[in-house]
Amino acid sequence: MIPYQVIEKKSQGFALKETEIREFVLGYSNGLIPDYQMSALLMAIFIKGMTSDETLDLTRVMLESGERMDFSGSPGFVADKHSTGGVGDKVSILLAPILAVLGIHVPMISGRGLGHSGGTLDKLESIPGFNVNLGLQEWKDLVLSQGLGLIGQTGTICPADKKIYALRDVTATVRSIPLISASIMSKKIAEGIQGLVLDVKTGNGAFMQTLTDSRLLANSLVSIGTGYGIKTTALITDMNQPLGLAIGNWFEIEESVRGLQGNGAADLMDVTYALGAEILRMADPKLSQDEAVEMQKKTVADGSAFEKLKKITELQGGNPKVLDELEKYPKARFQTTIRSTQSGYLSGIDTMSLGFAGIQLGAGRKIISDRIDYSSGMYIHCKLGDKMGIGDEMLTLYSEDEDKLSSVEEQISAGFTFTETTPELPPLIVERIT
Ligand code: URA
Repeated sequence: MIPYQVIEKKSQGFALKETEIREFVLGYSNGLIPDYQMSALLMAIFIKGMTSDETLDLTRVMLESGERMDFSGSPGFVADKHSTGGVGDKVSILLAPILAVLGIHVPMISGRGLGHSGGTLDKLESIPGFNVNLGLQEWKDLVLSQGLGLIGQTGTICPADKKIYALRDVTATVRSIPLISASIMSKKIAEGIQGLVLDVKTGNGAFMQTLTDSRLLANSLVSIGTGYGIKTTALITDMNQPLGLAIGNWFEIEESVRGLQGNGAADLMDVTYALGAEILRMADPKLSQDEAVEMQKKTVADGSAFEKLKKITELQGGNPKVLDELEKYPKARFQTTIRSTQSGYLSGIDTMSLGFAGIQLGAGRKIISDRIDYSSGMYIHCKLGDKMGIGDEMLTLYSEDEDKLSSVEEQISAGFTFTETTPELPPLIVERIT
């Protein structure tokens, strides 16, 4: 296999053979093919797409680049949730402990920030000491004893995705149905799960901005999962504004904790419970939707889900005390509040630009080797449809670098639009795909 020829073939729009995909991806994973050639192939795939057979081949190659877990002896239903990526999407951090309390076993393999969207691993690592790089046996033991274990792709689980994912993050090759499908599904299949719910985001803060593309992605993900014998459903959910009110790693942990303490933003909790209900009903088809939601609410009301998050934090090396004492977490040195310069109803938020502003402030990576500043991020004080007056607070930004604050202020303000009458708002849960 000559890498140049494979890149050339894809750039001309031809379908790649399984052997070409395999040798290229494994060659890259093993360090034989350099970043620049993989970047070129990713861009060719991004532009020319892949057939469903190629997507399946890519998924299988990434899956087989590492080990596959076996939970066949597990007493509980083994299931997971995964999001296609959005802004302020911290659902996994709430849902994994909720489901674990309810007897589901959740072997969650998450990703880092990708493009403008945040990643669960980076968020978890903002908790001092939290180790997302557990050995497989340790992870499996946690899943079986605690009901959950939260790790990233390791040297042994989907290592090819880990390396390609990091490259996609900085080469603008994320928004591709085959690349997202293979990335997500290789990790999920490797988990050895029986059930999977996918949160496919749609809107201006999602990788798929139109409903048509989101449906295509949802169908691609569901058909791969089902093909591997996993009960798989997808909810297409709105991402025309950040989910909840916090953006940035520690900020999102803090908001998740408040959610588990019963003070979560309505949209965040609604999406969490809707996704959780999918899994609970896969595990027990006799449950009604309302019952499945109520069971989850109870784990929040009685504090058991929050206790579970603290327990897993401790068992994964993190300091659970920081979750009890949120206000003691180190604050960024600089902050600024953006106020509305117009009055009217908030009708639009450029959600993707908020994600990129977060990166600019220090909450994400511009190049692979960048270190994340966990104290950078933002709180949003308004949601779509809110009536705003001149001078009302819209956002507060935090960064360790004062210049970065001023560099994003103007860009952020320009992303808010207003109308004189109440705007029509998109539904939060747009569609269910099975
Ligand atoms: N989540 C992933 O794991 N991979 C993607 O490509 C997008 C979201």
